[in-house]
Amino acid sequence: MQTEEDLRKALGRIDGRGYKAYKNIQGIYDFKEYTLFIDHVQGDPFASPSRMRVHVRQEVAEFPKDTYQSKSRQIALRDFTTRRFFQATKRFGKGSRGTGNSGVIAIDRPGQEVIERTSALVTNDYVEARFQMGLPAFGRSIAAKHALAMFFEELPQIVRQSLLFKNLNRNALYKHIETAEDADFLRQGLDNMGLVAFVADGAILPRASGIDPRPLTKGRVIPFESPESLRVHTELPNRGVITGMGIPKGVNLVVGGGYHGKSTLLRALELGIYNHIPGDGRESVVANPNTVKIRAEDGRRIEKVDISPFITNLPFGQDTRAFSTEDASGSTSQATNIIESLELGAQVLLIDEDTSATNFMIRDHRMQKLVSKDKEPITPFIDKVRQLYEDLGVSTILVMGGSGDYFDVAEHVICMIEYKPYDLTEQSRTIAEKFRAERKLEGGEHFGTITERIPLAHSFDPSRGKREVKISPKGLHYIVFGTHTIDLGAVEQLSDASQTRAIGDAIYYATKYMDGIGALRQIVDAVLENVKQSGLDILSPRPVGDYATFRALELGAAVNRLRTLSVQQKE
Ligand code: ADP
Ligand code: MG
Repeated sequence: MQTEEDLRKALGRIDGRGYKAYKNIQGIYDFKEYTLFIDHVQGDPFASPSRMRVHVRQEVAEFPKDTYQSKSRQIALRDFTTRRFFQATKRFGKGSRGTGNSGVIAIDRPGQEVIERTSALVTNDYVEARFQMGLPAFGRSIAAKHALAMFFEELPQIVRQSLLFKNLNRNALYKHIETAEDADFLRQGLDNMGLVAFVADGAILPRASGIDPRPLTKGRVIPFESPESLRVHTELPNRGVITGMGIPKGVNLVVGGGYHGKSTLLRALELGIYNHIPGDGRESVVANPNTVKIRAEDGRRIEKVDISPFITNLPFGQDTRAFSTEDASGSTSQATNIIESLELGAQVLLIDEDTSATNFMIRDHRMQKLVSKDKEPITPFIDKVRQLYEDLGVSTILVMGGSGDYFDVAEHVICMIEYKPYDLTEQSRTIAEKFRAERKLEGGEHFGTITERIPLAHSFDPSRGKREVKISPKGLHYIVFGTHTIDLGAVEQLSDASQTRAIGDAIYYATKYMDGIGALRQIVDAVLENVKQSGLDILSPRPVGDYATFRALELGAAVNRLRTLSVQQKE
């Protein structure tokens, strides 16, 4: 290992030289308080910044064991140090100077969710942070003076302020990890309580804006308040007893007038698969970990999905037991999204009328009279939602302000009025008795079978140009896999672009399990099991600082949206 003095001298030697000379500083340096790893040096000032890590030994970092003992706490601590490191880069880093990315010190930036990420790691021996540095230059000439400032003035401050326990706000740190631990406990306890979701009394569900996920603070903000009949008490390890609305297993309907907070509630439940930071407002809003938001997604590709539980008898005898299309309609895409999610192990479906295909959701008795069943391929969701629960044990939470026909199939009807939920189950039953829907049940007595599919390895080609493997995430919603773009715009529970990055690489990693025998679910589960055992680092040959973890459900959703995907149905 070299010393910090070696780095200082090396920078002195290459001052003013061509940018490529920076390659000389790749290596490991002992900075006494920490070890600096310069893993990869960028090729030019405009390329993505150089990748580095620091290790601070626990004798120096001094994190008490109870800050990282359990998995929940460890993930939260890693998240916390990442946030502090990020803040410190703003405070102590001098920022952009020189050409291109010169001067920038950056680390992955978490949002409202606390997700396992590779930007920071904690072990009994050390804490690690992974970050990027834009090695400074003017034009293509190395600016050693600025590099010296970055390595010897800015970085040491950033490391000290974020990775040494004594410099962190102890209360804020413990609050962070205890909040995450409580949320995990609550989520894990749902099943035993017979619930699919829980929304704490006092929770703040609305967000600052459509593009700002922080809590709404302007104007009147109505804290969540459970109806008495659905109120559940439960005890959390840190916060103690809390109360809130428990949403039971089965079929749950959320109704209410427009603009009364239905979609806001559903959105909070969608993200209830994640833990949230203290102050988010949704710290104790949790959902079953296998909850999936379903929506229509016209235009998507579909590869041999058995959508026959919902759709049969398409014009010209198109097969719906192995349905494929390059350009799905609203209803076929929504049916597919459900079937694919079930194939991947979904236990709870969330559906919002705002993003659903109407003809997939409802078909009233007048329409049944006008267009007979033999002319209508679609069995509407209303005729399948109970079977989903009774045959497959899959619950649904459905936002539906537009059709009272659903009263006949719902166990619970929650009505949002001025952002407060009321339990109107009894009233809805009375109304359903008095005004019979008169519609006929369609689509048979049972849900139908879920046909598993075997993805075929040859259909995954990650190569582009001269590169054998070129997978580029583009923000939250796109992955360019080889020469094909995967559109994840309708995979609404993705919450962080670092998840998208990890999923892109995980698709490639998954191909090693594609033996022509294993079904998609087995393959994605195997990938997730490996990630659980060995961490996200297995997805890449070199340390990556901006991966965040994801579910098998989202990995499967991405595979299903690869336009070259080829599968074989399982017998
Ligand atoms: P709906 O789906 O019933 O039409 P939305 O959930 O879209 O209604 O909510 C409508 C508006 O009300 C949104 O701008 C949302 O941010 C706001 N809102 C939702 N819940 C609350 C609340 N508890 N307090 C204040 N405003 C809220
Ligand atoms: Mg709405």
